[in-house]
Amino acid sequence: MAAGTTPREPLPYVEITDEDYGRRAADEFTVEEVHSGTLILRGPCPRCRASLEIPVVSTIVHHRSFGRHLRRVHRPRAADQVEPMMCTCEDDHPNRPNGHYGCGAYWTVVIPARTS
Ligand SMILES: [Zn+2]
Ligand SMILES: [Zn+2]
Repeated sequence: MAAGTTPREPLPYVEITDEDYGRRAADEFTVEEVHSGTLILRGPCPRCRASLEIPVVSTIVHHRSFGRHLRRVHRPRAADQVEPMMCTCEDDHPNRPNGHYGCGAYWTVVIPARTS
């Protein structure tokens, strides 16, 4: 193989998850609180390595399409929050359906409960 000349092979879009994705995201993502109760998670997609920026409202929201329809619920919780996430990169991934973003990878992260 000629080193250095081949661009990264584009990953095809596949809706896929892996235990490892959550683990890597937990290691690599940073959390910043931008407003009270609104967090921004930043880090590389565990699958395609695109850098992602994912807003999360730090209360339980059970909504598949988080990111667009976040609901603010004012109910402090003692438990850790398990947040579903998915890749939202705009990179080129073959086979991606129209109107979709990302490489198809999804995973969950655990946001520790605030103890304040
Ligand atoms: Zn990705
Ligand atoms: Zn990607």
